[in-house]
Amino acid sequence: MAATQALVAREGELLSDSLKVRFFPFAAARGQGSRLFDLDGNRYLDFSASWAVANTGYSHPRVVSAIAEQAGKLSFTSLCSTPNEPATALAERLLEIVPVQGEGKVWFGLSGSDANDFLVKMAPLATGRSKIISFIGGYHGQTGGSAAISGHTAQARAAGNGNVVKIPYPNPYRPLFGVAPEETGAAVLDYLENYLFRTICPPEQTAAIFLEAIQSDGGDIVPPAGFLRGLRELCDRHGILLFLDEVKTGMGRTGLMFAFEHEGIAPDAVALGKSLGGGLPVSAVVGRRDLLDAATANGMFTTAGNPISAAAALTSLDVIRDEQLTERAATIGERLRNGLEGLAETHELIGDVRARGLFQGVELVRDRVTKVPAAIEAHKVIYRAMELGLLLFYGGILSNVLEITPPLILTEDECDEGLAILDQAFRDVSEGRVPDEALSAYAGW
Ligand code: PMP
Repeated sequence: MAATQALVAREGELLSDSLKVRFFPFAAARGQGSRLFDLDGNRYLDFSASWAVANTGYSHPRVVSAIAEQAGKLSFTSLCSTPNEPATALAERLLEIVPVQGEGKVWFGLSGSDANDFLVKMAPLATGRSKIISFIGGYHGQTGGSAAISGHTAQARAAGNGNVVKIPYPNPYRPLFGVAPEETGAAVLDYLENYLFRTICPPEQTAAIFLEAIQSDGGDIVPPAGFLRGLRELCDRHGILLFLDEVKTGMGRTGLMFAFEHEGIAPDAVALGKSLGGGLPVSAVVGRRDLLDAATANGMFTTAGNPISAAAALTSLDVIRDEQLTERAATIGERLRNGLEGLAETHELIGDVRARGLFQGVELVRDRVTKVPAAIEAHKVIYRAMELGLLLFYGGILSNVLEITPPLILTEDECDEGLAILDQAFRDVSEGRVPDEALSAYAGW
C-alpha cells in the first residue's frame, strides 16, 4: 500500500478539507468497468460508482473514443457566445428522453449544484413569486442557491434563504405525524395544503416545490407510492412549478430513465448531472420554455456545455440505450436487493433495505425496535469492506445508511462478490475486528 498511502498523505497536506468527505485511505490509479485499481495495483469492486457517476462504468471504450475524437476536432468554444454541435445534439436528445410539462428547452452547466442553483434563480423570475418549498434531508448542492434549498445536515451551516421553507420528506421507515408507513406521503401533502399554505407559505407566493424523487444523500429514502403524483396535483391546483432533482437518480439507475417516471408524472423542470457526462463535468436542466427563457444572460458559465463533455454525454446515453442498462439496473437491482435482504436475516445491525433498481440504501440501527442510528458501525462496515476489496460510502442525515449505487454494467457474479464481502464486513464489525482508531483520521459526514 506504499504508493497509495503516500498519495493520501501528500494530498492531505495540500487540498482543502472543504472539498472532502472521506471515509478511508483509498486512491485510484485506474478504472475498468466496475473495478478500480489503487496505486499499488490492488483491485476493488466499486459499489458506489463514485457517487453514482460511473453508470456506464469506468473508461467505457465507446466513451473514451468519443472524448478522444472530439478533443482532436474541437476541444472548446464558449457556449455563452457561440453554439457547438455536440451540445446542440445533446439538447435534442435530452428533449426526446426527459418528459417535462409543455414545450421544453435545455440549459447546460458543470455540476449538479449549478443546475439546481439555476432553477432557484429562475423560478421567481418566471412566476413573480418569491418562495420555494424544499425538503429536510434534501441535498441539492454546495453553491449558495443550491445549499439554501438543501436540508441535509452537511449544509446546515449554509447562510440559507428566508424565502425557502423546508418540510419533512415522507420516510416510511421513520414516519412522522404518528401515521402508518404507507401514509407518510399523504400526511406531508396534508401538512402542506392545510397548514403551511394557510400560514407562512401561501400558495400564491410560492414559485416552486423542489425535491429528489428518491432522497439520496439524505438516506436513500424511497417515498411511498402516490406521493409524487399527489405533489403534482397539488402544484397544478395552485400554479406552482414542480422541480425534480435527478442528479443522482437519473440516467437509468432506478430501472427507468428517471426516478420520477415510476409515478408517471411530468415535472416542470428536471436537474441532471453526475452520470450525465459519463464522468466529465456537465449538468443540465430540462424544463418548460417559459421558465428557461425567463431571462437572458442569467445562468452562464464559460466552460459549460463544452463540446468534449457534451460528446461524452451523448455517447454515454448511446451506451445506456444500446446495452439496455436501464433494464439491467432493474434486473440486477432485484438480485442485489434480495441479497441485501438475505444479509438482514443474519446481521441485526440492518434495520431497513430500500431499493429502486441499482439505487439502494441499507439503514443500520443498534436496535430494531428503537431504531437508534448505528452511525459509527456504518462507517466501520464500509471501512472494512474497502480493506476487503469493495468500495461503497455511507450517507443519510443520521449518518447511518450504506449507499449502494454500482455501475449499471454490474454483472451477476460481481453482484454476488460484493454481497459476500459485505457479509464478511458486517461479521467483522459485529465481532469487534474494526477498532475505533481506524476511523479517527476520517471525519465522514
Ligand atoms: N443533487 C443531488 C441529488 C446530489 O446527490 C448531488 C451530489 N451529491 C448534487 C445535487 C450536487 O451535485 P454536484 O456535486 O455535482 O454539484
